[in-house]
Amino acid sequence: MRLNPFNPGSIRVEDQRGGFPGGGGGKLGCGTIVIALIGALVFGIDPGQMLGTLEQAQGPGSQVQQQGGTSVEESCAVNQYSQESCAALASLDQTWAPVFQQAGIEFRQPKLVFYTGGGRSGCGAAQSAMGPFYCPADQGIYIDTSFYDQMAREMGAGPGDFARYYVIAHEYGHHIQYLTGVAGQIRSVQQQDPRRANQLQVLMELQADCYAGVWAGRNRNAIEPGDFEEGMQAASSIGDDTLMRRAGRAVDAESFTHGTSEQRMAALRLGLESGDDTRCDAIIGGG
Ligand SMILES: [Zn+2]
Repeated sequence: MRLNPFNPGSIRVEDQRGGFPGGGGGKLGCGTIVIALIGALVFGIDPGQMLGTLEQAQGPGSQVQQQGGTSVEESCAVNQYSQESCAALASLDQTWAPVFQQAGIEFRQPKLVFYTGGGRSGCGAAQSAMGPFYCPADQGIYIDTSFYDQMAREMGAGPGDFARYYVIAHEYGHHIQYLTGVAGQIRSVQQQDPRRANQLQVLMELQADCYAGVWAGRNRNAIEPGDFEEGMQAASSIGDDTLMRRAGRAVDAESFTHGTSEQRMAALRLGLESGDDTRCDAIIGGG
């Protein structure tokens, strides 16, 4: 997909790759404090003194990075994956803002948060093993871009850029659900009726896939040969049934949280071919 050059000043990006922003003064994790307390019990060391020592031992790598230490431009230029993620974010903002305006719903830009290994989000600790995710509490799309290397390995013949854009566009789809209020509505139904929680979760994920498709469909002129197939392959390779089969587990529809490969491909295709977000709204009935 050929995305336009973007203005770094127009997007919201946070970079935790050099450490955590905000917080002030090198906060210590619970684990560290536990170690200090064990040290105190076992060795009779003053925990306060030991915390000081541990803090020093953690070194400058764990020190809080000052906000503004890295500009958006610099963060987006770190590597190809960062560059692509920022370009996708800018395009997604441009695509969705007018849709919200037309619908009379207030639009807010999400922030894109880069981290490596572990990070800090408004929804708790971010860990790369979790894969990319959206946190409604701070409206952040969190990504450790090494996920793309993993995706390339798992999908076999290296996927192209469109598969990576699809990942960002899917997370952006969760932001849309947050802004429209669908996410909140689903959450309360899930709490009232826990037996339907999984099934509703699947519908949420499929709708996010559909929104990702709408973004691509509305940027049709940027689509290159092979992009559609690439997106379908990505959607297929991250279906719950495929993931369970690959993990050597029995395919158990009850525990699906994202939908089957077939369902995910269909949702992406629905959005892509129609370019119409209201088609995605219909995935969650009555919403
Ligand atoms: Zn999702």
